[in-house]
Amino acid sequence: ATTPLWLFGDQLGRHFHATPQNRDREVLLIESAAALGRRPYHRQKLHLVLSAMRHLAEELGDRATVIRARTYREGLARFGRPVVVHEPGSHAAAHLVAELVREGVAETELPTPGFILPRPDFADWAEGRKRLLMEDFYRDQRRRFGVLLEADGTPVGGTWNLDRANRERPPRQATLGVPGAYHPREDEIDHGVRRDLDRLHDEGGIDTVGDDGPRLFPVTHAEAHRALRRFVTARLPAFGTHQDAMLAGDWAMAHALLSVPLNLGLLAPLDVVRQVERCQGDAPLNSVEGLIRQILGWREWIWHLYWHLGPDYLDRNALDATTALPSWWRRLDTTDVAARCLHVALEGVRERGYAHHIQRLMVLGNHALQRGYAPRALTDWFATAFVDGFPWVMPANVIGMSQYADGGITATKPYAAGGAYINAMSDYCGDCRYDPATRVGPDACPFTAGYWAWLDRNDSRLKGNRRMARPLSGLRRLRDRAAVVEQERHRERY
Ligand code: SF4
Repeated sequence: ATTPLWLFGDQLGRHFHATPQNRDREVLLIESAAALGRRPYHRQKLHLVLSAMRHLAEELGDRATVIRARTYREGLARFGRPVVVHEPGSHAAAHLVAELVREGVAETELPTPGFILPRPDFADWAEGRKRLLMEDFYRDQRRRFGVLLEADGTPVGGTWNLDRANRERPPRQATLGVPGAYHPREDEIDHGVRRDLDRLHDEGGIDTVGDDGPRLFPVTHAEAHRALRRFVTARLPAFGTHQDAMLAGDWAMAHALLSVPLNLGLLAPLDVVRQVERCQGDAPLNSVEGLIRQILGWREWIWHLYWHLGPDYLDRNALDATTALPSWWRRLDTTDVAARCLHVALEGVRERGYAHHIQRLMVLGNHALQRGYAPRALTDWFATAFVDGFPWVMPANVIGMSQYADGGITATKPYAAGGAYINAMSDYCGDCRYDPATRVGPDACPFTAGYWAWLDRNDSRLKGNRRMARPLSGLRRLRDRAAVVEQERHRERY
């Protein structure tokens, strides 16, 4: 068992390289220029991946070899010996690994420890089911791994899902007032990464979006565990209740901010689940269950759907949305964006490569849905502009849940909402030049008017969905329907 282990940039934790199976292997890390430059990634995302790889190389010392190459193939050729590799996180990388195994460049493909449920087990679970429902999957995950269960196998607290307790409106204050999240300190490795990315950019090797800025997320085992400890001890109690709330002056609220270390493969997901589970009693059950549902339920669900639904899933477009992403959106340029909710969310993406889940779903995703942005291009955008967006992460989240482009595999109805929802769940509207209650005229809120125009456009496509019956009957009663539709057809600015 001494064949070297090749690790991708999202496989960097001890549950990959320090297991009994792997701990005696040399470790190979390849910084592929092609992988870094393939898309216009957020500058801070490239920084996180490179910094994490280089920190791991430093931690492993003589055990690690780092090769900077044009492509993975070139890196492997220069290394010159067969490797073993864990299942990677994209269809493209899986294709490459399959080829390498056929050619003998990779000796074996090992299962990934980056997720809790192995892929064959998901295939068994999914087989023969009429509908794949996240809630069924989540309950089975709780049962299978014995998480938040009473001795008789029933859920702790008598109910599986406390989501209803996690939708409180925001408090009337500028910030949630919870202790701050863990903040890493940059070191020499980060400075080197910054210099290299500047050089690559100047030489035309990469085209990035977003601002550079101090590193905000963990890149090492130690940092990731500090961030986890900070979250469970200081922030978890407040996590649940305001999970769906938005405050312009508080980008992090009480969110866990653990998606980066999880998706870089620095934290083992079941460890996170167990640590959170142990907080019962110190933190309310809606916080504990809410976070566990995100990791043991949703994150696993999204991963398995990525493989289960296959690469063609990216081309689903049930609502025939074909609008190209505008350049201000792609470049994260908020100069002319007056809609405060949109401005704040997009600015957060530019400044940090991050927006929390309700900003993603109900502001950014909602805007894109209303304006008919092409789902595949939008998925690419989410995957590249966000620091936690890897290829497997966004398809079911964006194509499915956010854009309803899969016609109802991941969500039972589209997540479209007008300004009234945003007004109820945020403090944005008070300082906005638009009025969430106005549909027509210069003050018409682009989300309120946009919602009705979107319903009008999709009337016949949504007719068969029972959950859309009420909104569609509201549309028929809308007195200024024609004026709203006409106005939104010509809207150029938000
Ligand atoms: Fe957003 Fe409309 Fe509220 Fe302005 S008024 S913040 S555009 S929802």
